[in-house]
Amino acid sequence: MRVALTIAGSDSCGGAGIQADLKTFQALGVFGMSAVTAVTVQNTRKVYAVQEMTPQVVHDQIVRLFEDIAIQAVKIGMVASVALIEAIAAALEGVDRPPVVLDPVMISKSGYPLLNQDARQALVARLFPLAEVVTPNRHEVEALLGEPIADEAGMRDAARRLSDLGAPKVVVKGGHMSGEEATDIVFDGRDYHRLTHPRVATRNTHGTGCTFSAAIAAGLARGCTFFDAVRKAKAYVSGAIAHALPIGKGHGPTHHFY
Ligand code: PLP
Repeated sequence: MRVALTIAGSDSCGGAGIQADLKTFQALGVFGMSAVTAVTVQNTRKVYAVQEMTPQVVHDQIVRLFEDIAIQAVKIGMVASVALIEAIAAALEGVDRPPVVLDPVMISKSGYPLLNQDARQALVARLFPLAEVVTPNRHEVEALLGEPIADEAGMRDAARRLSDLGAPKVVVKGGHMSGEEATDIVFDGRDYHRLTHPRVATRNTHGTGCTFSAAIAAGLARGCTFFDAVRKAKAYVSGAIAHALPIGKGHGPTHHFY
């Protein structure tokens, strides 16, 4: 059995974070494990509060898993603060690391910060070099590079610039760009690929980013090539959005299939 580890935050309503990652791993035939970075108090309407774990607990969850179990891929989601980033980097630097998918989570759809402002630099300096691929959306790209992106040419340029910051491969997600299609730019360190899917009209999009990056990790854990893992993840998340559940009064969660 292939094994993937998610290092991320808990979403009490089950749509995003650790819960989305584990459902995705399960649906894609990979055994999922988790190192919890923070517990959020949230429903489909909004995030109410965040309780970070201690850096030591986050560090030790990761190290104890690697001591015991062969892990074929890691996904990193919500990392919250500089102290947690340092703990995660220290843990991953000390182990025989499989490919790491870094989703640079910064803010919830409802506007709650999931990464402290002062932690952005640490995310780039400490976690980008450990990652095989980063998967920012439009807002994350703009926050990381400090400039707006307007179109596909901007997404390509941003992908190369983010790659220069240390993560060799980059997927700039197009879900927040305008247009009838959701087009992602996939940069493998040398070439660009374009992945597109008709935009699905739904308000139930909670957890899409988490699901996508977890699906890439699942593909890599199963031995897919990078581009194949991303292509399959795009198909998976598009299906999960199309079948998203109208649960709750806010943004309902993406739906996972078994
Ligand atoms: N909660 C946690 C723990 C997350 O990791 C994320 C996103 O990565 C969110 C909430 C936000 O999810 P969304 O912006 O899809 O509502």
